[in-house]
Amino acid sequence: MSQMLKDDFGFLHVSAGALLREEVEKETTIGEEIKKFIDKGELVPNQFVVEMIKLEVEEKDDFILDGFPRSLEQAKAVEGLQIDMVIFLDVPEDVVVSRFSGRRVCEKGHTYHLKTNPPKQKGICNYDGLPLTVRKDDNPDVIRDRFKVYHKKTQPLLDYYEKEGILVKVNGAPLPKVVYKEVKRVVEERE
Ligand code: AMP
Repeated sequence: MSQMLKDDFGFLHVSAGALLREEVEKETTIGEEIKKFIDKGELVPNQFVVEMIKLEVEEKDDFILDGFPRSLEQAKAVEGLQIDMVIFLDVPEDVVVSRFSGRRVCEKGHTYHLKTNPPKQKGICNYDGLPLTVRKDDNPDVIRDRFKVYHKKTQPLLDYYEKEGILVKVNGAPLPKVVYKEVKRVVEERE
C-alpha cells in the first residue's frame, strides 16, 4: 500500500523494517544487534528505532510511516510529529500468513506476492531488475512469534489512535488493487 501511495502522491515512504534491514546489511555492530531481534520476530529496542525514524522525517511534510509506531512507547516518543491519519489495514490472520508465505522482496525493499502481485518477469523486481528473495523472518515459526508481538505491543495502538480521532479502518483482506482503491479514497478525502 505504501509503495502505491508513494507512486500516486509522491509521499516519502519511511519503512521502519526496511531501514533496520539496511542497517543489518551494513554489518555494523549495531546492525548485528538489530539482526538478532528481527530474526526472532521481536521488536527492535526503541533506542535503535525512534531516533532513526525522527531523523528520516525531520523537516518533511508528506510522509508515510510504515510499520511505525509499533508500540505505545514508540507512539508517545513521537507525539511531537504531526500525524494526520492512521490507517489500520484489517486482515484476518490466515490471510496474513498466506501473504507472508508468498511474499518476495528485492534488496531495496520492493515487495511482491507470487499470486496476487507477481512481478512482470518471474523472480525479478519491476523497479530495479534485482533478484527477488524470501525474507528470513517470513517463515512459519517467526510469523507465529510476530503475531504474538503484534497482539501484545501493537494492537493497543488502535485504541490510542481511535481516542485521538485519527484512526481509519480499511478492510485489508481483498486483493491489493481493491484495498488500494479504498486506501486512496480515504487519503484523498483528508488531503
Ligand atoms: P516489517 O518490515 O515491518 O515487517 O518489520 C520487520 C521486523 O523489523 C519486525 O519484525 C521487527 O523485528 C523490526 N521492526 C520493524 N518496525 C519496527 C518498529 N517500529 N519497532 C521495532 N522493531 C521494528
